[in-house]
Amino acid sequence: MKRDAPLLISVAILWFSLALGLSYVLTGWPQWRQQGPIRALFVAKSGPSPKQAASRGLQAQVWRTAGEGWAQGEFEGTMALEEGAGLQLIPGGAQGSYTSRSWKASFPINALGWEWQGICPQGTEVAIQARVSADGQDWSPWQEIPPFHEEQRDPGGPWVGELMGVPLGGHVQYKLQLRSSPTSASPVIEALTLTLLNSLRGPQIKAAKAALLPPEEDGGVPRPPIISRAGWGADESLTNWEPEYRWPKKVIIHHTVTYNPDPLATLRAIHYYHAVTRKWGDIGYNYLIDGEGNIYEGRKGGEGVVAGHARDYNYASIGIALLGDFTEKRMPPAMEEALMEMLAWIADRYGIAPQGRTPAWGVERPNVLGHRDLRSTSCPGEQVYRRLFYLRAMAAQRLLAYPPAATIEAPRPGGAVGGKTRVEASSSSPLLAQMELYVDDQLVSTSEGSPLVWQWDTTSYHDGEHILKVVARGYQELNGELARTVVVDNSPPRGSIVINGGAAYTRDPVVSLALAAADAGAGVEDMELADNGQWRAKERFHSRCEWRLSQGDGARNIAVRFWDGVGNPSPVHSDTIMLDTTPPLWDRSCTLGQDRVQIGVQDELSGLVVSSAEYALSSDDGRERWGPWQPSPCSGSEGSKESQTISIPLSTLSGTAIRFRMMDRAGNWSMVSFQRSAISFGTEADSR
Ligand SMILES: [Zn+2]
Repeated sequence: MKRDAPLLISVAILWFSLALGLSYVLTGWPQWRQQGPIRALFVAKSGPSPKQAASRGLQAQVWRTAGEGWAQGEFEGTMALEEGAGLQLIPGGAQGSYTSRSWKASFPINALGWEWQGICPQGTEVAIQARVSADGQDWSPWQEIPPFHEEQRDPGGPWVGELMGVPLGGHVQYKLQLRSSPTSASPVIEALTLTLLNSLRGPQIKAAKAALLPPEEDGGVPRPPIISRAGWGADESLTNWEPEYRWPKKVIIHHTVTYNPDPLATLRAIHYYHAVTRKWGDIGYNYLIDGEGNIYEGRKGGEGVVAGHARDYNYASIGIALLGDFTEKRMPPAMEEALMEMLAWIADRYGIAPQGRTPAWGVERPNVLGHRDLRSTSCPGEQVYRRLFYLRAMAAQRLLAYPPAATIEAPRPGGAVGGKTRVEASSSSPLLAQMELYVDDQLVSTSEGSPLVWQWDTTSYHDGEHILKVVARGYQELNGELARTVVVDNSPPRGSIVINGGAAYTRDPVVSLALAAADAGAGVEDMELADNGQWRAKERFHSRCEWRLSQGDGARNIAVRFWDGVGNPSPVHSDTIMLDTTPPLWDRSCTLGQDRVQIGVQDELSGLVVSSAEYALSSDDGRERWGPWQPSPCSGSEGSKESQTISIPLSTLSGTAIRFRMMDRAGNWSMVSFQRSAISFGTEADSR
């Protein structure tokens, strides 16, 4: 905890605000801004948020005041409504305040945010201040926590505040200032929730600087080093958001209105506040930059991911937040340099001319914007906003010093190609003069601009690896290039199919198929199965499946074709099985020969298992008591499909009834029994 000591001291003397992207001019209480009702809030979809956070290291707690809880504070021109319905001004009063009791969190907090539920009629205002103390005696000065700068709020949703950095302390107290105009009713605060955070634990900057995003492959203006989310200690268990992607056309600059003794702690607190408290699922900005010029990966999902930093303008924009409050203070030079490098890289990567203006969201706008160009906010702060023209010019200047970046859009990395395939290369550089495409160092296509599209007939190339290379020629002999290895595959996959492990017969129409396939280039992807010539829908290749044979006994042929990843089909492979659900059929009568009792039996589909023939005798007319099964000689060969005769010597026939049983090669058993009397007379059998 040694490392925290200097922090504690520096933090204790500075009351800092740690807000998310907006510029809120701190007018200071009680200088009321004439802004009508507090509208400037964002949206929490449902009630108050967490509980003790699960987050590694990060601690979070909420303190909610509602109902009878209001009675515990001090009222000045305000009053609690009956039955805990909320807090309001004394009837007729124009302004008043409410000071909460002091409350002790279970850990020292370094950041807090608020939200309240209630009514804020036109012409009224509610402002919130907070202070903290390490010991409950010495308190930091009261500091107003501004409302969130976004203008919309879900109807009926809570009013929401910024996340503020506060001096480290476990005791917290807040003060509400209510103001009403002579013609309006009082605001009513039903419930107030403070979210209290300690985000100090986590990686330190030195380790973070070694945890950079992996380098880019496609040249051009180099991407400045960016500290990954893992580097700053993003707790991914808090992230709950499906990424969406759009090609960015604009860059929107924000400031976070934070004082940042530990930028990584600020990032972790913002992440928690955006992802969990605000329920956005993740941090709002694409990138963040601290005062030392360190750049941090914000929203998860990589390049082109849509973030949540400027409501209604998130699609097709990249949001960069500067850590700090630049209302009056200028950006440190290292921060400005990093921002300029980011702008130049983004310009090259996405073809966004830094000094250009293009249509977006309905009207023509500068490509590099301040948040205030879109919303009524002072974000990114006057001192940053004034520097935008200079940043745009410097970024454009930097572009000139690098060759244009080039990339191969298709085929995709690691993908195999076959037949006639489309190759597309592009360069988004505003400085591109010409593009060239090479296969194995042979020039195959050129284009004046981007993209370059070429149909590649791979059948005239051997199977295996080839090198595609794109060259983007810029001005002044500055050329960018990118090479990529691709695999040509014009050979079909090999494969096989086996039904029921190679069995010839089945009595169960549900069989198991064992499918095997291999492909040297693109790999096996799909397959298609047919039952007696009826092809079914194509499906992903899998090596084992259950299959229900079409109805009716008889031979069934199951065929399969496999496709590799580039669409080469295999020859048709097949296996056959006989579906036999019919047991052997007995003759209607059992006849008495000279010295033998005999009966005919036949199985036309799978044939008889001759060795399975057995008989048994009964001493009670076949009602209950049967003797053991005994082998019964049968003529004919194993598997015979002709009618065969089972017979036993007359001398063995004791008792009053006889029965026979037998199986076919599909496993269907069949049994028949006769009264002895029926045999003796050699007439109609009594078949059961
Ligand atoms: Zn902003």
